[in-house]
This record gives sequence, C-alpha cells and structure tokens, in this order.
Amino acid sequence: MKVLVINCGSSSLKYQILDMTNESLLCKGLVERIGMDGSVITHEKIGMDKVKTEVPMKDHKDAIEQVLAAVQDKDHGVVKSMDEIGAVGHRVVHAGEKFAKSVLITDEVVKALEECVDLAPLHNPPNLLGISACQQLMPNTPMVGVFDTAFHQTMPPESYIYAIPYEYYQKHGIRRYGFHGTSHKYVAERASKMLNVNLDDLKLITCHLGNGASVSAIKRGKCIDTSMGFTPLEGLVMGTRSGDIDPAIVTYIREKENLPQGKANEILNKKSGVLGISGVSSDFRDLEEAVADGNERAALALKVFAHKVRFYIGAYIAEMNGVDAIVFTAGVGENDVSMREIICNNLGNLGIKLDPVKNKVRGKETIISADDGRVKILLIPTNEELMIARDTYDIVTGVVK
Ligand code: ADP
Repeated sequence: MKVLVINCGSSSLKYQILDMTNESLLCKGLVERIGMDGSVITHEKIGMDKVKTEVPMKDHKDAIEQVLAAVQDKDHGVVKSMDEIGAVGHRVVHAGEKFAKSVLITDEVVKALEECVDLAPLHNPPNLLGISACQQLMPNTPMVGVFDTAFHQTMPPESYIYAIPYEYYQKHGIRRYGFHGTSHKYVAERASKMLNVNLDDLKLITCHLGNGASVSAIKRGKCIDTSMGFTPLEGLVMGTRSGDIDPAIVTYIREKENLPQGKANEILNKKSGVLGISGVSSDFRDLEEAVADGNERAALALKVFAHKVRFYIGAYIAEMNGVDAIVFTAGVGENDVSMREIICNNLGNLGIKLDPVKNKVRGKETIISADDGRVKILLIPTNEELMIARDTYDIVTGVVK
C-alpha cells in the first residue's frame, strides 16, 4: 500500500508518499506561501531533481490539489491515479487529553480536534484545514490522525500537573502535554532495535534537539516525563524560545519595557533562546562560526543550551533510577559534533562516556559511546513521516485498532 503523509502549517505544507510494502520513500515535497503572492510547490521524485513550480494557491484546498497533480505528473509523479493511495496520514499537533494514540479520522475525531484549537491556536487550525481539503478531494480514502502529544499521554499526574490552582487544570486543561511525541517514539523504537533489547527492558532519555527542542524520559517504552509543557515553550533553551524561566519575569518585563498585549509571548517564543542570548542567530552553525571569531555571547548561548540539556538528563536519570541509553536526534542532535561533546562532558560518574572518535559523525544511525561507558549513547536521525505512515498503514490495515 502507498501512503500519503501530510503535514500542514498555516502557510506551508510538507508531503511524502511512502510505499509501505518496503517502507521506501517515493517522493516528497513542500508547498510554501499558501494564500500569499508567489505560492510555490517544490516536488522531488526520489532519484530525480527537484521541480519548483510557482502557481497561485489561495487556500489549503488549492495546495492539496497541486500536491495531487504533482504526485500524478507523467514525468515526476509516482502514481498513475490517486486510487493507488491506500490512506492519508495527517500530522496533528495537539490532541489534548483526547487521544493517546493515532486514530482513524471520523466526524467525531474532527470535532474532538476542533475542541483542542484553543490549546494550539497556531497549529491545529491548519492541520484541520489539511484534513478537510484531503477529505473533499479524496472522499473515499481513509485518513488517520497522528498527534504530537499522543506519546506523552502515559505521563503520570505528578509529571503533568502544574502547582497552580487545580481548577485551572479542570476548567482550562492547563497541564503538561509535551510535543515532538512522534519523534521521541520513533527514536525510542529504533534504539531498542539497535541495542537488540526489548523496549520493556529499557530506560531511555531521548534528546530531540532541533530548532524546537525537548527531552523525554522513556521507561519500558512509555513516556514518563518530557520537558515541553502546556505549550512548546517550556523546557530546554531553543533556537528562539526561552524554555524554562522564572514566570515572574513575564510580568516584570511587561512592566519595565511597557509591552503591549501579546508582546511578551512573542519575545519569549521568537526573540529568545540562543538567538536572544547571542544576538547572532538561532542556527547553531552560525553560532559556532561566531565563537570561532571570538564572539563571547555566542559561546555563552551554547553553554547555556548545553547546561539545560545536562540538567534534564540528570533529572530524568533520577526520575527513572538510572538510564540505559541516551539518544540524540533532530538538526542539532544529529549534526552538531561539538554540542554532543559539551553535553556529555564530565558525566563519567553516571556511566556516560562519549567516544570522541565515534562521535565525529553526522546524520547516521550509530553508537557513539565509549566501550567502557555503562550508558549507551546513540545518534538516531529522526523520521516523523515514516512513523506517521506506519501508524496510518497499521490502522487502515487493521494491524492496530
Ligand atoms: P526544526 O525541524 O525544529 O525546524 P531541525 O531539527 O531541522 O529543526 O533543526 C534545525 C537546526 O539544526 C538548525 O537551526 C541548526 O541549528 C541545526 N543544525 C543543522 N545542521 C547542523 C550542523 N551541521 N551543525 C550544527 N547544527 C546544525
């Protein structure tokens, strides 16, 4: 069966088609500037050059129409007709407490996701638009929703309840939800395969370090804690997000800087993190270049980032009473050799020892811990699209209900 994976943002859309008989990727693409001037689709049939086409797309339905045309194109397409697509898997950011795993999309599911819009006002509306556009254009094809929050629903209450009046949890659903769940789940499953140890017998700490970043504690295959919270702002220092700060800072800077409504939120999400500290960039490659040129604030930003990752690793070792393996994934985790070195430095007492030679690698599934380190350190490129396609295939073919 071929599965179409759709990841819809507010003005962009990513897609892939995978052949699930051997989980091979057939094509992938990106639509940008939906609803704006200069909307463009970039399509790539695997093994061929990318094709970029500018075409007006006023909404997500137009965008999906262009995706369907691209994947059926006589030169660059991968299917003759959409009947070859057995199912569509949709990435949906927030499912609140409603879904702890992926589900077949029905009218009730759409309604439940609409009720989560308040929790993810920037993400869930475009996700829902993508679902609705696909339903209109492929009315007979089953659709599956795969949620960023689902994997974290196994957290115990002591991990997800905030110490604020309990009625806010009851009335407004304010609790830790966690994000990047599809990625944490994928790398945990790969880690179990790489180590040849059942997930039930593993304590894992998975570090998804990209532009957005989060760490999860995974015991016996279940998430027991994660660093992102009610929103993806909490936890680690990120590219442009502050991560954990004293909540009193918000009211304080609002007053001192005379900020209008909503501005503090924007500053913490878009102008903070390593960008905020360094004043240089949110991209770790730029920061490392700046450090090489002697920029002290860039150096400080990288140190603060690493400090926070180590802080969570330590906390999760305590929570799980040990750890068997630490996994690095996403842009920084997969590629930043020196950041992995700084994070793992001087943790020998905890059995965490990086092999500096094995660590000199990028974007490849491999073990990078020293042979005499008790804790395995793994580098695993994430693949959220494959995870979405797998869940979609399993649900549609009845492997899981
Ligand atoms: P997201 O999906 O959250 O946008 P990614 O997981 O793709 O982010 O990570 C992107 C980030 O990864 C970049 O902003 C950059 O900081 C980092 N990155 C990518 N390649 C490298 C590299 N070779 N060295 C260091 N950092 C890198």
